[in-house]
Amino acid sequence: MPLTLEQLNAATPQEATTLLDGVYEHSPWIAQRALDARPFRSLAHLKHALVRAVATATVDEQLGLIRAHPELAGKAMVAKSLTAESTNEQNKAGLTNCTPEEFARIQQLNADYNARFGFPFILAVRGPRGTGLTKAEIIATFERRVHHHPDFERAEALRNIHRIAEIRLNDKFGASNTLGEMVWDWQEALAVHSDPGYAQQGQLTVTYLTDAHRAAARQIAQTMQEVGFDSVHIDAVGNVVGRYEGLTPDAKTLLTGSHYDTVRNGGKYDGRLGIYVPMACVKALKDQGRRLPFAFEVVGFAEEEGQRYKATFLGSGALIGDFNPAWLDQQDADGITMRAAMAHAGLKPEDIPKIRRDPSKYLGFVEVHIEQGPVLNELDLPLGIVTSINGSVRFVGEVIGMASHAGTTPMDRRRDAACAVAELILFAEQRAARDPDSVATVGMLQVPSGSINVVPGHCKFSLDIRAPQDAQRDAVVADVLAALKDICERRGVRYTLEETMRAAAAPSAPAWQQRWERAVESLGLPIFRMPSGAGHDAMKLHEVMPQAMLFVRGLNSGISHNPLESSTSDDMQLAVQALQHLLDNLALEPQP
Ligand SMILES: [Zn+2]
Repeated sequence: MPLTLEQLNAATPQEATTLLDGVYEHSPWIAQRALDARPFRSLAHLKHALVRAVATATVDEQLGLIRAHPELAGKAMVAKSLTAESTNEQNKAGLTNCTPEEFARIQQLNADYNARFGFPFILAVRGPRGTGLTKAEIIATFERRVHHHPDFERAEALRNIHRIAEIRLNDKFGASNTLGEMVWDWQEALAVHSDPGYAQQGQLTVTYLTDAHRAAARQIAQTMQEVGFDSVHIDAVGNVVGRYEGLTPDAKTLLTGSHYDTVRNGGKYDGRLGIYVPMACVKALKDQGRRLPFAFEVVGFAEEEGQRYKATFLGSGALIGDFNPAWLDQQDADGITMRAAMAHAGLKPEDIPKIRRDPSKYLGFVEVHIEQGPVLNELDLPLGIVTSINGSVRFVGEVIGMASHAGTTPMDRRRDAACAVAELILFAEQRAARDPDSVATVGMLQVPSGSINVVPGHCKFSLDIRAPQDAQRDAVVADVLAALKDICERRGVRYTLEETMRAAAAPSAPAWQQRWERAVESLGLPIFRMPSGAGHDAMKLHEVMPQAMLFVRGLNSGISHNPLESSTSDDMQLAVQALQHLLDNLALEPQP
């Protein structure tokens, strides 16, 4: 019989600790402390309470927890002295069945890792889907993590321990994540389509209107049909549009979706998660034979990343009437115009104006997206509520000083262009850090034809500044530009600066942000609010209707635009449940 939350909530502290035995390896103190948070409202709430117990423990207690774990395929496994839980996990990962070479490699890594960090390598070998990582994935992760900084690796070990505990709790409680697993599997299946050259290397690249892109669109459309959308079509720019109608034909529509194109060698979840999570909700509604008092429209946007052509947010832009016809004459790297690519795909550019939506028929836009950053992962939180998509400004500039001999020019007689930019970079770092949620980055830095024995006469740089509100961003920009002027005057150098991009912030509509907050709270999770540092399709819809986004934790420090991008089926399940709550609560509100 699986354990229930009612049993756990009703048990004495001692009984409850026993009921949670084996979730955290040889560490009953974690369960004991977490019990203070009873009654647990959900399994997610219990998991979070356990995570908090570890997060608030001392470093020595945390290290004790890490050291209570066996080595991977280590002596304890060979001697068959592992706990039942660990034996099951190492078995499932095939670690009990290594070739002699694999076994030797893992032993070497175990030794290197332990020597570097003083604790065993911990990996949730059942992986993000719970079905087990391959031995190759395990060894690759091991090889990557042995190079981490010790502080980071201790936290990463704890995160893996929490993931191990999460899977053990699912087993103990007989919890099923059917919808989250479906979403995970859909994304895995969609990732088989990749552009030529990348597909052969096992990399995921899906750029606008390539064969892989069109195959991906067909696959999304087919899945929409299978789960029970009332209508599915691919529109004039290649967006996949599915509608699940409301109770009445005149009902307004809630719009959601995200993009299915990817960057080069990108991740499987960026964009796609925001298409499949709502599709899982429609499947559940259809299976229950339920209709909402509003229609639900899910759009897989054809293009967001601007990889093949210099046209970002093409898919969502077209929905708000923001498609620039001049884009049609742009050529890709092979000289194929967008017009030709569209004709090849059977799309009619003359129909693009027709897909513009009438905002008066829409309630608003919501978007689920993988965070693409480290914050939720570091805080051990599955979901975050977006307060605003940051406004951004970008510049490219150059400081012009005077090149001179590195040996003969005394320090007080230099006009060093690179030193001026270095001072600017540090100022920008400190200025942005003074604000909550402002960021400033110099990502490109170059001394053109520099030489080891020459004081730099020129230094080129980029500058990217973002903040949740335009006024906040502009204040940072003003201070950084004033600093550049001062630095250059003081150092006797001059500069050029060109603004190359400016995008307005898209603050979440308060009512929609609150709907996400209520949904997350109803799952038993804390409300965590954060800005989006990256741009998203919601920025486009923001121009014509209220919008708010939900972020889902990414693993591996939230890395994105990278094959290491990852998220668990448990977190995807929570995202589906959050959206279901939002839909259900919206259904109870008076309909406009
Ligand atoms: Zn994205």
